Amino acid sequence: MTHFIDPRLREATQPFWPDAGIIGSHVGGERVVGDGATVSVNDPATGQLLFSYPDAGADVAAKAAAAAAVGQVTWGRFTAAGRGRVMQAVARAILASAEPLAQLESLSAGKPIRDTRGEVAKVAEMFEYYAGWADKFHGDVIPVPSSHLNYTRREPMGVVLQITPWNAPIFTAGWQIAPAISMGNAVLLKPSELTPLTSLALAVIAEAAGLPKGVVNVLAGYGHTTGQAALAQPAVKKVVFVGSVPTGRLIGEAAARRLLPSVLELGGKSANIVFADADLERAAIGAQAAIFGGAGQSCVAGSRLLVQSAVYDRFVDLVAQGAAKIKCGDPLSADTEIGPINNARQHDHVLSLIREGAAEGAEIVIGSDGTAQQQGYYVKPTVLKNVTNAMAIARKEVFGPVVAAIRFDTEEEAIAIANDSEFGLAGAVWTSDVARAHRVAAQVKAGTFWINSYKTINVASPFGGYNNSGHGRSSGVEALYEYTQVKSVWVETAAEPAIAFGYAPGLRD
Ligand code: NAD
Repeated sequence: MTHFIDPRLREATQPFWPDAGIIGSHVGGERVVGDGATVSVNDPATGQLLFSYPDAGADVAAKAAAAAAVGQVTWGRFTAAGRGRVMQAVARAILASAEPLAQLESLSAGKPIRDTRGEVAKVAEMFEYYAGWADKFHGDVIPVPSSHLNYTRREPMGVVLQITPWNAPIFTAGWQIAPAISMGNAVLLKPSELTPLTSLALAVIAEAAGLPKGVVNVLAGYGHTTGQAALAQPAVKKVVFVGSVPTGRLIGEAAARRLLPSVLELGGKSANIVFADADLERAAIGAQAAIFGGAGQSCVAGSRLLVQSAVYDRFVDLVAQGAAKIKCGDPLSADTEIGPINNARQHDHVLSLIREGAAEGAEIVIGSDGTAQQQGYYVKPTVLKNVTNAMAIARKEVFGPVVAAIRFDTEEEAIAIANDSEFGLAGAVWTSDVARAHRVAAQVKAGTFWINSYKTINVASPFGGYNNSGHGRSSGVEALYEYTQVKSVWVETAAEPAIAFGYAPGLRD
């Protein structure tokens, strides 16, 4: 079967695959083309076919797991400092390829070039950060009450499976690969079937910079076939999933059946709370960035805007005025602020939730009325007011540029509305009252919270969800606990050890 690659995309992949050919998986340093059903990916900006390729399938998943197992042994022979040096070289190589990577991401995922440039730089930062940790995260000596020396070793899990979504492909790949390999693991990465290209390019770049083949393997294909096959591989010892709640539940169940530990980074419906005493101009800019950045295709999007009654109408108007000025257009144009929705299915989902919101009584202040535009998967920045927290638009994850403005009167009410959600990924409060800011931060049930700010994240700071937004943590030192297991080693040091039946007796002075 022949497969299609748009000439613009062919050119964008040239820096990484000069030999062109059919898109396949990256297994043990080689391209391996699957024989599964065709995956067809449309250009988000036009809705036209951009590329197609065969799903990797079970055989390729098995080969990749075997390659990762071999790669992990090789990588395990490096000293910790040696792993750090290789990762520093990978970071430099990413920066050297930053522009072609950003172009490839923008073209294939429909993300504005100004965003992808920033995200590629962040991927380099992730490798630098975890390069530094490689020889600094280690075991301990425990002062046990016996004649033993007791120490702990932080050992890699082995082969880890990482399954990622389409909204920030290279960012998410770097976010999970860097901590995993800094601790000596090998990776089996299954990016979204819609956005495999920059993850594949990252593996190519990393190997050219000195990462041994087999340490990072990338599977190009569907979740229900290739992803499930990867999950069944005996070599896989940990699963890290970033994606939606329904798929997270499937992955969590499959992992539990195998008794595999998992990290689940799932969706959100974050509350962005604005009190009347806030700097409203700044808060309005923050509220726009919170929901319209990335066309709302961000897990931490501030999709529920909770505004105190006294300033509700004024503040919603400010946000709507700002929304009208946002430059929405061609992802590859330097002044584009928001691009299209990534794919047709998600586009339909966003539009249908806008229609549902209107049908339930929400007022569309500005933006889309829930009908499709003529070309591509664009949705205009949309503000809905007079929303109650019971409406579908306030309960379901939209994952698009649509904000639901909800009114509240008191601090207690704001906190209650914020916590009345199945999710718990992020949230924010805007106020000039310092004590209130900290009270609210302490009481909203979410893994990340901002005060007079929104959406700042950094590789050094932990990230993850409460409730159905998932469990486990990524980023910061917390990620290193996820990517290691601890071994306790006991060494007898007494000249004449006290030997007892069963456990050796402890000492007490
Ligand atoms: P998704 O759950 O549909 O898919 C995510 C990944 O899972 C893809 O690689 C997909 O191929 C794979 N998959 C699908 N079905 C599978 C199966 N049966 N077995 C194994 N793998 C399977 O999510 P999406 O639509 O790609 O991404 C959007 C979602 O991701 C949103 O809910 C968003 O909030 C979430 N997200 C969360 C975070 C976070 O850090 N919490 C970050 C980004 C995105």
